Amino acid sequence: MSKLESVETLVIGSGPGGYVAALRSSQLGMKTAIVERSQLGGVCTNVGCIPSKALIAEAHRYEILRQVNQADAAMSFVNAQALKQGIVNKQAGGVGFLMKTAGVSILEGEASLVDGHTAIINQNGAEQTISFKYAILATGSRPIELKSFPFGGRILSSTEALSLPAVPSSLIVIGGGYIGVELGQMYAKFGTKVMILEGGERVLPGFETDLVAPVVKQLKTDGVSIVTGAIAEKVVQNTDTITLHYSKDQEQHHVTAEFVLVTVGRKPNTDGRLGLEHVGLPLTSRGLIETDEQCRTAIPHIFAIGDITEGPALAHKASYEAKIAAEAIAGQAAKVDYKAMPLVVFSEPELASVGLSETEAKEKALPIVIGRASFAINGRALALRAAEGYIKIVAKQGSGIVLGAQIVGVEASTLISELALAIEMGATVEDLALTIHPHPTLGEVIMEAAENAIRKMDRPK
Ligand code: FAD
Repeated sequence: MSKLESVETLVIGSGPGGYVAALRSSQLGMKTAIVERSQLGGVCTNVGCIPSKALIAEAHRYEILRQVNQADAAMSFVNAQALKQGIVNKQAGGVGFLMKTAGVSILEGEASLVDGHTAIINQNGAEQTISFKYAILATGSRPIELKSFPFGGRILSSTEALSLPAVPSSLIVIGGGYIGVELGQMYAKFGTKVMILEGGERVLPGFETDLVAPVVKQLKTDGVSIVTGAIAEKVVQNTDTITLHYSKDQEQHHVTAEFVLVTVGRKPNTDGRLGLEHVGLPLTSRGLIETDEQCRTAIPHIFAIGDITEGPALAHKASYEAKIAAEAIAGQAAKVDYKAMPLVVFSEPELASVGLSETEAKEKALPIVIGRASFAINGRALALRAAEGYIKIVAKQGSGIVLGAQIVGVEASTLISELALAIEMGATVEDLALTIHPHPTLGEVIMEAAENAIRKMDRPK
């Protein structure tokens, strides 16, 4: 065992939660170390957001080339995988560089807490003990593995699905959440015959039905078949294929494909050798760590952020909480406020939501107006040949304060930030309507949706 090192802040896990927390902690003048048992950058950089968006972008490029008969699917996919890996390596290298330049010590290995102020870092059997004044737990999550569908061979998790060496001829996706839809559509664009099997009534259940409709339409155009209300029951492995048995409307069905991809959610990494039991940290029934508005756990000097805490498992949520936790440790009055937390699906067309939806506002019986505008006659959307979709703004009746917004359409992922800013600043639909948006841009649709909301206000006209 090497000599005991001591830090003020020990961050466990280097995903978008951990590395941002370590950076902020160091910027605030605290001696900081970050521990990572796998690759710097966590799930997001290595097997999540970045590689998935890289492959999705390549699938779109391939689709355009295919339309002019200039693309070969097999070659394009091999190139896409190489490009993706280049981007991942660059991003992961960037995290290491950021840590080093900020003066954060990087400890390679798996951290186990042995008591409230000590952790052992184990790297291939070699152990190092480190003591800390504060800890930020950012150990992230892993794909949920279903008993009947153990990962391996022809049963893939999102991790393996992002690294297939060749385009599969066919793929069954179990779970129609955002990861299943994004990866399913990406493969369909490369020519894979894709079926999405969803247990619930519809795919992307976190979004309103009318918002999801254009995505479902495009999925069908891409050749994706969607079976809802379907319960996957078992698989039979054949030599070169796999057969999935499922039930729907009390009838048994089966379908055969090259691979089955299981995307039914993620499980927090709060078990295993992390040693939470040694510090007495309680977990919720879902294995999550409860935190207060400063990301502080039940043990005041231990903080938890990202996928191991309540709320959506998203990279930007992890990074947001990271800054709050580090600032709280530094004695600042920072606290979380999730009212402007965007959710994005990188499908075609893209989906994005921030704040309250119309349904949620109605459930709360809030007096609201809905401003709507479509991409159909927007010059930029037409030029991009992507005029499908619309923007919806939920505003408070009377004051016009923006409470929420939803977008389905091209670049929804980028456009949503303007609406997140509006919510964050307490802006009104007048503020959005009076902001000069350059022409011709997609942002003009936000302005038009705001103008539409103003016309519906109960005010003297
Ligand atoms: P993670 O990124 O999971 O990082 C945790 C790190 O901790 C890991 O590297 C792990 O090895 C390490 N670790 C765990 N235990 C220990 C230990 N005991 N000792 C040392 N190290 C440890 N989110 C978005 O916002 N946008 C997207 O577009 C998006 N796309 C996604 C696509 C896919 C396919 C997947 C799977 C996820 C996607 N996500 C996306 C979700 C996003 O990746 C996660 O929400 C995010 O990575 C969570 O960050 P985190 O810091 O909490 O943990």
